[in-house]
Parts: sequence; C-alpha cells; structure tokens
Amino acid sequence: MFHLKNLIGGELLDPKDGGWIENIEPATGDVLGQIPRSQAADVELAVQAASRAFPSWSQTSFEERSACLRRWGALIANHAEALIAAESQDNGKPVSLARSVDIPRAQKNLEFFAGAIEHFASEAHIPADASHIHYTHRKPVGIVGCISPWNLPLYLFTWKIAPALAAGNCVIAKPSEITPVTAWMLSQWATEAGFPEGVFNVLHGYGHEVGQAIVDHPQIKAISFTGGTQTGAHIARTTAGQFKKLSLELGGKNPALVFADCNFDSALRTTLRSSFANQGQICLCSSRILIEESIYPAFRDALVEKASRIIPGDPTDETTKMGAVVSAAHRDKVLGYIQTAKELGATVLCGGETSPAPNERCANGFFIQPTILEGLDAQCSINQEEIFGPVITLQPFRSETEAVQLANNSSYGLAATIWTENLEQAHRVASRVETGIAWINCWLVRDLRTPFGGVKASGVGREGGFEALRFFTEPQNVCVSTGNGAH
Ligand code: NAD
Repeated sequence: MFHLKNLIGGELLDPKDGGWIENIEPATGDVLGQIPRSQAADVELAVQAASRAFPSWSQTSFEERSACLRRWGALIANHAEALIAAESQDNGKPVSLARSVDIPRAQKNLEFFAGAIEHFASEAHIPADASHIHYTHRKPVGIVGCISPWNLPLYLFTWKIAPALAAGNCVIAKPSEITPVTAWMLSQWATEAGFPEGVFNVLHGYGHEVGQAIVDHPQIKAISFTGGTQTGAHIARTTAGQFKKLSLELGGKNPALVFADCNFDSALRTTLRSSFANQGQICLCSSRILIEESIYPAFRDALVEKASRIIPGDPTDETTKMGAVVSAAHRDKVLGYIQTAKELGATVLCGGETSPAPNERCANGFFIQPTILEGLDAQCSINQEEIFGPVITLQPFRSETEAVQLANNSSYGLAATIWTENLEQAHRVASRVETGIAWINCWLVRDLRTPFGGVKASGVGREGGFEALRFFTEPQNVCVSTGNGAH
C-alpha cells in the first residue's frame, strides 16, 4: 500500500486538510494505496511556492533548463522497470505496452523539449529601408497549470510539463486521480534533476476539487488540459472571464476509411491495433471503421476473426495483448453503450460482454471483450459519442464522397486513418477530412516536431514542437528605431 504525497515548493507533503482517495488496481479491483485529496488550500501553497521561484527560474539560461530536463529523462531511464510495472498496475494496460510505448515516450518527451528549447529562436523583421527593427521577445507565461488524463498517464503528463518548464514557466501539474502513481514517482526526482524548489509542483486529487481550483486561480496564467470534451467545455466556460491562455486536447470519434484498393493485410493488421490498443482507450483509436462496399464482407470477416482471438489477460503477463479497462465505472459506461447498441438493433459480430477473469488474482478485475458492431445508423449515439473502450462499429460506403461524408459526420475531429494505394485519392481524402491529424496507410506514427491536436469538439490549440513552446510563451513585439527614417 502506498501513500502518495503532493510536491509543493520542493517538499513532499500531505494534503492540508488530510483528505485521501483510494487508488484501485484495474486488473484486480484491489486498493493499491491512498492519494491526497487536495483542495484549494493546497493550490494556494503551490502558487506561493511557484511565485517565489518564478523570478529566478524565468531568468535561467535555456542551457540550464535543458540540462534539468535531460537529467530528468535519464532518471526515467534509470528507473524504467519500476515505472513500467507501476504504469501497468495503475492503469490496467499490458506491461508490454507500458514498456514499448508509455515509458520510453515519457523519457523522449523530456529529451525532445530539452533539445527543442535550444532551437527556439525569436524572429526579427526589418523593413527595406532599415528604419526600424522589430523583434519578438518570447517570455515565459508565468505560473501554468498542466492537467492530464488517465489513459497514457506519464506519457501525457510529461508531454505538457516538458515544454512548460523548457520555456521558463513554473508548473502546477495535476495527473489524473485514477492513475497518479508514475507522476508521483517522477515528482520525487525533480530535485535530483536540478529543478529549484517551487519550479515544479504536483497536486493530486479530484478534478472538480483541486483541478477546478487550479483552473480558477487568478495567478495561474495558462492551462494546458487533456481530457474529455465536456470537461474541456467546462474549463473554457469557467476561465472565459479571466482570459487565460488555454490549450484543450479533447475527445475523439475517429474514422478509419478503408478503400477497396488498400493493401488489405496491412489495413487489417493496423486497424485491429488502432481499434483495440490500450483497450481502445487512446484518444486516437479508430472507433468508426468505414469500409468500401466491395470489400466490406471480406474485411469485416477477417477483422472479426482476428479480434475474436484477442483474449484480455493479466496486464502483468508479458504475453498479454489486451488488459483491463481503467475502472469499474468506466467498464460500466462501456457496457452501457454496448447494451444501447443491442437495443438499437446492432449485430454484435464479436465480444459484447465482460471477459472472464484471466486468473485468480484478477477475479475482480475490469475486463471487456473486444467488441465489433454493425448495422447501426450513422446518427445514433453509438456512432456519435466517444465510448473510449474496446468497441468499434463498421459501416459500408459506396464512393469516396460518401466515405468523406461519413467520416465528417461527427462533432469530433481528432484523427482519421486512410487506407488506399491510390496516391491522388489518399491526398484528396486527407485534405477533405475534418481532423487535426490524418494518417495515410499507417496509424499512431508520431514525430514530436509536428502539430498535434484536434478540430471541432476535439479541442483548441496544438501541442508538439514549437507549437507547444509558443503556447507556453507570450510573444512581445519590440520595435526599435535605427534613426534611419521616420520615428
Ligand atoms: P476527464 O476530463 O475526466 O479528466 C481529465 C483530467 O481533468 C483529470 O486529471 C481530471 O481530474 C481533471 N478534471 C476533471 N474535472 C476538472 C475540472 N472541473 N477542472 C479541472 N480539471 C478537471 O478525462 P479522462 O476521463 O481522465 O480522460 C479521457 C478523455 O481524455 C477522453 O475523452 C479522451 O479522448 C481524452 N483524451 C484526449 C487526448 C488528446 O490528445 N486529444 C489524449 C488523451 C485523452
């Protein structure tokens, strides 16, 4: 049983009012430990610590900030096995996924922004007569809030805090209360990495309590948020009057468009992964599979055959491909959608139920079978709302125009995956889908320099590369007369 603490002003502290939340292991339903149920008073302490740290931290050289991030990245590498085990246990994801994706990517996020800040230079503009010089002074915003979700816990936590710290801000971060462990581990190494006290603070607790107090605090000048669309809308509403900078990375209902001329095997293999990786709990997962009519039966049958062979297993088992969904509440939400789909007349091609426990240890875990549904109207809730679990729907299309219409028939606009061997069609469709990301003949391939984010209800703003560094800085235009013309 662990007992997490907040990191405030370089000290690991209990919450001021002593409230605690139980942290549950998804694969077993057992209590893993207690996490602080922090409140506004803890936010106030963290803001005071960050205010004391900001004047000198904001003046440090980029080399110094970069070095802290690199040392922190090295500490992740040194503790990789412990982090991998903790991430898998806390989230329910297969340990092999934490090893191949989550923890290496968390390390890479820190190293990437350690490098990015070295190349992030100001622009200057000089008119032809050289009468003036304009330059852009990019200053850190100040104290910023970074709020992250449970599906890729350390991966998304570091994706936010790294650019914020690289740019010279002081950070008050809040990981999800459902998966707080790896953020807590990282917080214990912040001092060893070289961050002065108060530069990096972590508060644990519920979103509507400590999360809302971070969002509301007038001295916190920017909020970088990744989570659900409803929470994002709530944050946008409650911060509107304060004119905070907001970056909102929200939900998705991502289409995969499978054209008849695709490389069938490659489309099949990757669609299986894009549908069910991390139990379907990645914002970028495909959840609406649109298949050209002529190959619909063959693609459907092959996908169902492969999905039926995925048996959810104990996440600690190295051979497990699908683990537990994150919580009992989330399991019930996903099962609720499956029940609605059945009531709407869907054909359940595979899955549709909870999955038997893989072993005695996991007898009370939260396991759902990979589920494929067909025969649902494009407008129904199952095709419109984000389920965020191992559940996909299949829909046939007859033409490129219809495929694009179906893909865009969503309030969300995060990512689309396009499968075709026709080069012109691939680019044409990519330009027509209303999403922030379009993958052609691949999925989840990321280059950290590229802009990352969604359109429509999937969010506002972009993360990644210089986009993130721009978000975490305030550009000031400075204009200097050279004395060579008008004043
Ligand atoms: P959530 O919105 O419930 O919570 C996200 C975070 O916000 C948590 O830390 C939570 O405690 C906090 N929070 C909740 N209410 C808050 C409030 N009023 N003020 C401040 N903070 C608050 O989301 P979740 O269930 O943790 O995550 C799943 C969602 O995240 C899905 O919708 C998924 O698509 C989305 N997501 C999006 C991306 C992306 O990059 N677009 C990436 C991963 C996950």
